Order: sequence, then structure tokens, then C-alpha cells
Amino acid sequence: MAETCELCSYTSVLGAVEQCPIVPNDIAQAAGMPKSQTMRMCCNCRRELDTWFKAKIAKMVYDIGMRQFRYRTGAEMVEEYQSVFNAFVDYRRSELNQTERAPLGPQRETGGQYP
Ligand SMILES: [Zn+2]
Repeated sequence: MAETCELCSYTSVLGAVEQCPIVPNDIAQAAGMPKSQTMRMCCNCRRELDTWFKAKIAKMVYDIGMRQFRYRTGAEMVEEYQSVFNAFVDYRRSELNQTERAPLGPQRETGGQYP
């Protein structure tokens, strides 16, 4: 059965598209939360999402009250993962829209980029 990636519409019959948790299960578990929602993702999107998580998620946060850095709580980590995920989805969709819009025609910038 063919499965389609919900992020980039790539379709695979070879199992390259899988249901993936939005928040990694170990993070959700550590926060005492039920398992995360899942989304169908191809291995490319999955890999890129992991890169986003690595690059954008900070385990520590500056606590203004304590005037020092502290580790985020489990619940804060879940929120962090969710917000990075949402940003990733927006980014993926805007990328798709651009490639779809491109052939539609003359929408050139008429700004003064070139003298
Ligand atoms: Zn994909």
C-alpha cells in the first residue's frame, strides 16, 4: 500500500513513509504525557526534522527569577519540540508553495535590485 508524506507529498510503496511521533516518545514519557500525535513522514522529512530538533532545541533556559540557567522541565521540552515541529511544517509547506507557484508566470520583483 502506498503511503504519502504529509509534509512533502512524496509517495512511497517501499515503506520509506512512516508514521512518526511529533514529539519523540522518550521526551513525552519523561514529561509524563501520553504518546505524541503522529504524522506520516518520508525519511527525508524525518531526517530534516531531526536536524531542526538538534539545531533549535535548547535543553536549558535562562530563569529570570533564579537569575541562572536551568534545565527545562519535561513539559517545557514537549512544548519546545512542538513549536519547532510547527515551524518546520510551516517551512516545508512554504517551500512546496513556492515550487508550485513558480511555473505560473510573471511575478517578478520590480524592485531596484539591479542598477
Ligand atoms: Zn516528506
